[in-house]
Amino acid sequence: MAFDPSTVRGEFPILDQAVNGRPLVYLDNAATTQKPRAVLDASRNYYQRINANIHRGTHLLARAATESHEAARATVARHLNAAEPAEVIFTSGTTDSINLVASILSLAPGDEVLITTLEHHSNIVPWQMLCERSGAVLKVVPCLDDGTLDQAAFGNLLSDKTRITAFGWVSNAFGTGNPVLQMTAAAKAAGSLVLIDAAQAAPHMVIDVQALGADFLAYSGHKVYAPTGIGVLWGKRDVLDALPPWRGGGEMIKEVSFEKTTYNDLPFKYEAGTPNIEGAIALAAALEFVDGLGLESIAAHEQALIQRAADGLSSLPGTRLYGPADRIGALSFAVEGVHHYDLGTLIDQMGVAVRTGHHCCQPLMARFGITGTTRASFALYNTAEEVDALVLAVEKAVAMLR
Ligand code: PMP
Repeated sequence: MAFDPSTVRGEFPILDQAVNGRPLVYLDNAATTQKPRAVLDASRNYYQRINANIHRGTHLLARAATESHEAARATVARHLNAAEPAEVIFTSGTTDSINLVASILSLAPGDEVLITTLEHHSNIVPWQMLCERSGAVLKVVPCLDDGTLDQAAFGNLLSDKTRITAFGWVSNAFGTGNPVLQMTAAAKAAGSLVLIDAAQAAPHMVIDVQALGADFLAYSGHKVYAPTGIGVLWGKRDVLDALPPWRGGGEMIKEVSFEKTTYNDLPFKYEAGTPNIEGAIALAAALEFVDGLGLESIAAHEQALIQRAADGLSSLPGTRLYGPADRIGALSFAVEGVHHYDLGTLIDQMGVAVRTGHHCCQPLMARFGITGTTRASFALYNTAEEVDALVLAVEKAVAMLR
């Protein structure tokens, strides 16, 4: 299917409904995306025709489920341009993936972990917990007034003590896209491991892990049109092979005895217990869906929408937009004298769904001296008419609230 925003919308049944008596304008895609028929069908087909536990069964359904699950892993690997499917670990999402990495690293007092002010709490707290456990020190790259990272400070904060550098590719709060190639190269040159939080990159851009040169990359299925409860940790084989397992249980072992247990090879070493089989299969369907449309075409469509929203909102008096002009996926704004929560509640009554609050980025909000923003975030199915509906709704709500 070629990418035609007006027809592709028909693939998303949930969008065809009214909320509060108005057609739904869903602009909360950075929180989670809606699911196309291809994904809904993959989930239903799995439970209607295939469902069985994987890896251990000899019967036909167990073999079919195992094959579908491992084919899904190969699809994810292809989508990321991973060197091999075994580098793809299925997790429950970005949070789970980052916690996995933060849990298997052992650091010493005085070692440093480098993150940035733009991070989501899930790329902050696991590192703080690692630092608490190990006596390592958390260092934070500051953010400039335009919502981009201070790259000079980033360079200065990297040192031979930096053991891991973890940063988001795209900020969920401000839509800032970071120069991840350059940042990864600098951190690697300093001898640090690198983890990229690609939660907000995956829906909007082509990811090539071999070109990036990082050690780990994490994303969530539900932000890229797949169900909740499935996500990916990609890790370089030589790095993961050298690290210890995380959770213990079935599937992650080779042999268990009370005297000594040996661990399985990648990827199973990091997949203890029955995984989200249907989720992995549906994630593969979602990736095939976006690849079929073309992520570059999707991104170009979304960029036009975000620019239209930025122009429309900034023409309203007293509106401040956060983040750089070339924001990706999400647009955060505030209106003078209007609380974001009141604004979000009122425009919901006009059918427009946006997110308000701190967006799980409290340190970033603190940096800007605010408690939160109103955020509109875009997906492949959004239209210019929806952007206009957002701007009109904000204008009306502000007139009512002032
Ligand atoms: N990182 C970023 C940049 C995010 O936007 C999110 C979700 N808002 C997460 C991490 C966490 O993702 P999840 O809740 O799916 O684990």
